Amino acid sequence: MRDLLGGKGANVAEMTRILGPERVPAGFTITTEACVAYMAAGGEEPSGLEEEIAEALARLEELSGKRLGDPEDPLLVSVRSGARESMPGMLDTVLNLGLNDRSVRGLAGRTSTERFAWDSYRRFVQMFANVVRGVPGARFEREIAEIKNARGVRSDTELDVGALRELTGRFTRLFGEETGEDFPQEPREQLRQAVRAVFDSWLGERAVAYRRINRIPDEWGTAVNVQQMVFGNKGESSGSGVAFSRDELTGAPGPSGDFLPNAQGEDVVSGVRNTRDISELAGAMPEAHRELMKILKTLERHYGDMQDVEFTVEDGRLYMLQTRNAKRPAQAAVRFAVDAVAEKLLSREQALLTIDAGGLEALLHRTFDPGLAYAPLTRGVGASPGAAKGFIVFTAAEAIVAEERRREARRGIRRTDHEALARFDAENPGVVLVRPFTEADDVGGFHAARGILTSEGGKASHAALVARGMGRPCVCGASELEIDLEARVVRCGGEELAAGELIAIDGSSGDVTRDDVALVEPRITPEFEAVLSWSDELRTLGVRANADTPRDAQRARDFGAEGIGLCRTEHMFLAADRQPKMRAMILAEADEDRRAALAALLPLQREDFEGLFAAMEERPVTIRLLDPPLHEFLPARLEVQHEVERARVEQSDDLAELERLLERVSALEETNPMLGTRGCRLGILQPEIYEMQVSAIAQAVRAVRERTGEPPLVEIMIPLVDYEQELDIMRALVVRVAGAEGLEEGEDYTVGTMIELPRACCVADRIAHHADFFSFGTNDLTQTALGFSRDDVEGKFLAAYLERKIVGRSPFETIDEPGVGQLLRMGAWLGRKTKPNLKLGICGEHGGDPESIEFFQHSGLNYVSCSPFRVPVARVAAAQSAVRAAGSAL
Ligand code: PEP
Ligand code: MG
Repeated sequence: MRDLLGGKGANVAEMTRILGPERVPAGFTITTEACVAYMAAGGEEPSGLEEEIAEALARLEELSGKRLGDPEDPLLVSVRSGARESMPGMLDTVLNLGLNDRSVRGLAGRTSTERFAWDSYRRFVQMFANVVRGVPGARFEREIAEIKNARGVRSDTELDVGALRELTGRFTRLFGEETGEDFPQEPREQLRQAVRAVFDSWLGERAVAYRRINRIPDEWGTAVNVQQMVFGNKGESSGSGVAFSRDELTGAPGPSGDFLPNAQGEDVVSGVRNTRDISELAGAMPEAHRELMKILKTLERHYGDMQDVEFTVEDGRLYMLQTRNAKRPAQAAVRFAVDAVAEKLLSREQALLTIDAGGLEALLHRTFDPGLAYAPLTRGVGASPGAAKGFIVFTAAEAIVAEERRREARRGIRRTDHEALARFDAENPGVVLVRPFTEADDVGGFHAARGILTSEGGKASHAALVARGMGRPCVCGASELEIDLEARVVRCGGEELAAGELIAIDGSSGDVTRDDVALVEPRITPEFEAVLSWSDELRTLGVRANADTPRDAQRARDFGAEGIGLCRTEHMFLAADRQPKMRAMILAEADEDRRAALAALLPLQREDFEGLFAAMEERPVTIRLLDPPLHEFLPARLEVQHEVERARVEQSDDLAELERLLERVSALEETNPMLGTRGCRLGILQPEIYEMQVSAIAQAVRAVRERTGEPPLVEIMIPLVDYEQELDIMRALVVRVAGAEGLEEGEDYTVGTMIELPRACCVADRIAHHADFFSFGTNDLTQTALGFSRDDVEGKFLAAYLERKIVGRSPFETIDEPGVGQLLRMGAWLGRKTKPNLKLGICGEHGGDPESIEFFQHSGLNYVSCSPFRVPVARVAAAQSAVRAAGSAL
């Protein structure tokens, strides 16, 4: 019932059934529906809520034998949020609710530890004021610091009863000053306000940011869990902790986790106090440790998934506060899946479905080059795998601004100029967010940063959890670092690094260095290999890669691509040795000049294709003839204009040539080049280019066939077709030229087309008459169906659209099912109406997106094609789609 009760509420109820009521503190859950009603009413409690809470509370009082606010023996409760999907650290919690000036004395009497009672009360006032009424936390910290100073003690735990009483007094006064009200003494009023605060936190800035990043709908709302308090801060035989049923970083068998003796849960997760390893619990509280280990196994078996629990030990007795499926980095997800099958905990199908396919790309994250030495600056806790390097920033806001600037500058580079893009990426690695510890408000900065480095906290700290959730490399608790946020420097062992300097972190080993280390591509582990091979057995969709160079093709094969679904040949014209030839071809006035320039390009093209065929061996290679408009191969008009002006002033020799260049650039200039003379339109106006490309392909086929005896499987693809006549003409060109080179249609190659324009989807039945295959170009199809410029939308209005919830995700990342998706389905259906066995693929960016892959599976496509790094993701996502489609998971 997690939709209604939230994850925490549903699991606490379930856990009570499995483990028995003596292990789980009693409580009740206010549903997500109540939160939705509260939001719909503009922040008013729905009618009937108050009465229902009163009833539930009465039952809880009866079960516990205590009453809320009882001056003798008060019931105390925690009030915690719990959405359908866990949102660690994003929503609010209030502990020890029910304390007031009278019941604190009752608590002191009952527990015979006065200090504990006053410590609980001051924590409650502090948390309530901060969480429920928004009094800044720093104000309380200042009071604590003052009182510690006055009493000459260093840590909170040294404050005696008198000090804590005084502190509580100061806190309630502070509450009065800040809110203009007395601290509420009536526990029911405390509860009412706390419930409202949890509802309100759903709409808080940080929760909204988290949901946007993690694609959690705003409409879900959060449930509120009210649960009887148990106390981990009652002395040395008490404590609180978090535990995972297996290692949360690697997935290795054997529980892991952290705990703190004599502490409440918040102390553990905040990352402010240094926690102890769960294995040490065995020595400190052996009975509780033994029980906990047993319970972790029971829960894992029950849920069929790795668990992440919170527990409290009160006077040696173990209580389970919550359990949930563990969020885990990709390597742990893979390890768990493989072990779970070996242990017969899950079937292969079930195990596959526990993996977040999209997150697997993290396994293909780079690492420090193991062959190169670097000087480590320090070492922290490897908290989220992968290596990252970038310029130091100290705040989330700086990270966001820097990343936005970097992207803006990158957008200025031509999409097709791969070399310039690679150079830019090498010179602008992005930023690493460096902070003592992170808080919920830093989440946006995580997204913008390449990696996160903190000097405090461990594997369960906020920084670690959020970084793992987002697949960002993270090193935590690098305690030798002195991070001076005011001076904006990091000091370490006599060295000093300022904002903007380069730093590199390895989120697996915990290493930190200021060397400009090379990051290298990863290897696929045997466990990952196992998951991929099950995927290949279970999936029905083919997976190919988009690759333009032999190097990319090789990488695609290493990652398991079954062929090349898209070779964008324009890349081949942009290399430094080709651009001048391409330019000469475009600038040629006489036919023979143009032919000469093309003849110079031909051997280079042939070599490219030979390299691709050799890399792919017997696998199919889809080669797309030139697509972008010709002006993309020429310099920008303004640039040339400046050059012409300079040449005029200097009366230099190159004036005539520059003027001709300017004239040609101006002639080729179009107002909307993306809707201009590109794709097959270019092929129709300037057939010589396509002729040269087809000759080069045909010669390469022959050369490889002669050399290896194996004919390559070539599919020649025509881009941007609108009318069946276009394909008819282009096909005739291909057949004629390839025929002249001795190749036979259907035997040595096939001819197909991109379907990437709305009209093509509508007339796919006619186009299919001339096509051996279709490959949906969902990038252009999205651009033209929505009328969104693919090159501008990100920098312009997409953010506003996401914010206003007009779209949930960028339609260029996840296929827009109702619009673009339906066009694709119509195209697929019409195409197969003409040719029932027509081969259908997709080669837009969506081919590597798990959600879109599921849609393509249901749309009857034969294969997806994506960038080489997404190939493993696509293999697993395709298998998951097949398993779900077959309904055989359970
Ligand atoms: C497409 O449009 O989806 C496609 C794959 O081609 P390109 O991105 O090169 O336009
Ligand atoms: Mg396209």
